[in-house]
Amino acid sequence: MNKKREPETNVGIAQGFRDVVRHLSVVLMAGVAIATAFTLWTPASVLPRSATGAIARAMATRVGRNTTPLPPTATPIPRERIGIVSGHSENDSGAVCPDGLTEVEINQNVSELVQAQLEQAGFDTDILSEFDDRLEGYRASALVSIHADSCDYINEEATGFKVSGSLETRVPAESDRLSSCLIDRYSRVTGLKFHAGSITYDMQYYHAYREIAPQTPAAIIEVGFMNLDRDILVNHADVVAEGVVKGILCYVRNEDLGIE
Ligand SMILES: [Zn+2]
Repeated sequence: MNKKREPETNVGIAQGFRDVVRHLSVVLMAGVAIATAFTLWTPASVLPRSATGAIARAMATRVGRNTTPLPPTATPIPRERIGIVSGHSENDSGAVCPDGLTEVEINQNVSELVQAQLEQAGFDTDILSEFDDRLEGYRASALVSIHADSCDYINEEATGFKVSGSLETRVPAESDRLSSCLIDRYSRVTGLKFHAGSITYDMQYYHAYREIAPQTPAAIIEVGFMNLDRDILVNHADVVAEGVVKGILCYVRNEDLGIE
């Protein structure tokens, strides 16, 4: 009995094991079949074709934005243009000091520094000569003419800068604001005083105002007197230029006036 029962028992265990395996297989296969059915069924077959396309595009877009910056646009937005008249250039020397220092070289140096700083700030710029052909109908966000005052010793008051906008412009509010910006920022940056008392007829009726497009706001700045302000004009022309640039930026960026 023992001899017979033993194999029977073994057979019984083996049979039981095969049953378990068979059941497990059925469960597993059912699971695989259900999982496959679900994978095939969602979400594509639930949603209309157009909706799945839209979702795919939305997901692709979201991934693109999250991981990489957008490529530059094919047609970049044109940059704002600023005109700078380098006073007296290609015409005459302007004011002259006894040692030969000329206004035209001060103006040219400052104009080039202004141009470099504006280009760095993202603007297109033109440096125009005093009677440049391009002044005729010139269009820009702003035009600023750069000059310097006499090298004669007049008195201790002959120091500081002057700004004047056009009295003939068709955009008086813009021209006034350009002048106000230049006065405010130039005085802050350079520490020079606004010399309001001696703005001349030549400044107010500057020839370029009649040549440029009437919608181009324009101003003329006398950046300092070549006698008493010689040090800043010659040795710190970068500060002079920065004062002009901050004035122009104040205007084109519509910054608050009187607030740092
Ligand atoms: Zn001049």
